[in-house]
Amino acid sequence: MARRALVTGAGGFIGGHLTAALLERGDEVVAVDVKPAEEWHQRFSDAHNVVADLSLLEKCRRVTAGAEDVYNLAADMGGMGFIEGNKAACMLSVLINTHMLMAAREAGVERYFFASSACVYAAGRQDTPEVEPLREADSYPAMPEDGYGWEKLFSERMCRHYLEDYGLETRAARYHNIYGPHGTWRGGREKAPAAICRKVIEAKRQAHPSIEIWGDGKQTRSFTYIDDCIRGTLDVAAGPPVEPVNLGSSELVTIDGLVDIVEEIGGTELQRVHDLEAPQGVRGRNSDNTLFAATYGWEPATPLRDGLAKTYAWIEGQVASAETAGAARG
Ligand code: NAD
Repeated sequence: MARRALVTGAGGFIGGHLTAALLERGDEVVAVDVKPAEEWHQRFSDAHNVVADLSLLEKCRRVTAGAEDVYNLAADMGGMGFIEGNKAACMLSVLINTHMLMAAREAGVERYFFASSACVYAAGRQDTPEVEPLREADSYPAMPEDGYGWEKLFSERMCRHYLEDYGLETRAARYHNIYGPHGTWRGGREKAPAAICRKVIEAKRQAHPSIEIWGDGKQTRSFTYIDDCIRGTLDVAAGPPVEPVNLGSSELVTIDGLVDIVEEIGGTELQRVHDLEAPQGVRGRNSDNTLFAATYGWEPATPLRDGLAKTYAWIEGQVASAETAGAARG
């Protein structure tokens, strides 16, 4: 049955892919973002596209009217370089989720999905590269990533209380490093997979011999391909009530290992310059998928090499178009 869905942050990376998936399955979609329409990562003529600042309650009320499902993905966010230097801006996203919850309750929304993050986990559990995968219960006692992580944990909590106190069917997933085509690939908000693809592509095109890597390269992460994230988001949103659940790959890789894969895709080998002063986040992080697999019967498993090959190809196209546009401007 087609649903009336509202996607916030629809002009962003994940919101654009989610809008595509909902339209594909026949939903009516209202797609909202604060960014001017020409800056949306993807825009679909069969969605109802709205530019609005959802930190304002009145705007939330206006776009939520008539929605059955809300997917709240809007947030002021970026990679480590952004969130370490913009803690207040990240915390202000609390206004978006708070006002969206209020508006959703008033509008009688049936399902409300909140995009949380692995940044809710305490740094103390992530201080070695040989990580124990993070289980959902590890988020308490709380000591999340300063700024961004506190906002996510607080907003998850608020979703929980809207379910308990008002019966609004809220769900939350903790995304672990999502990557793929149509993501941010330059400008300071990009994350490691896109940044490394771009650096390798630029080094090749400009015949640079080296690549700069943030940190010593031994920090570990898992990276989740966008298709797994979208499938998981739809499952979590439609699924049974469950605590905020990890949505992430458990394929662990060091940052140097990530560079190895991207170099291999690009058919090049660069000299590595490790910048030990650059923001690098926690030492190691991986996703424990026990709860996710038990609840939804599958887990994110797109091999990193496969997802990176698609991401690399897309960024290569973007770099080429940007160069052509630059050359045309003179
Ligand atoms: P993104 O930055 O590409 O998209 C977020 C969008 O929200 C942006 O287009 C932005 O313009 C919009 N937005 C910000 N403030 C707004 C406002 N006041 N009103 C309306 N729109 C507003 O980020 P993304 O990677 O697509 O992430 C989507 C969601 O998933 C975010 O909530 C993010 O915190 C969460 N998340 C993402 C990752 C990841 O790896 N990408 C990991 C964990 C959690």
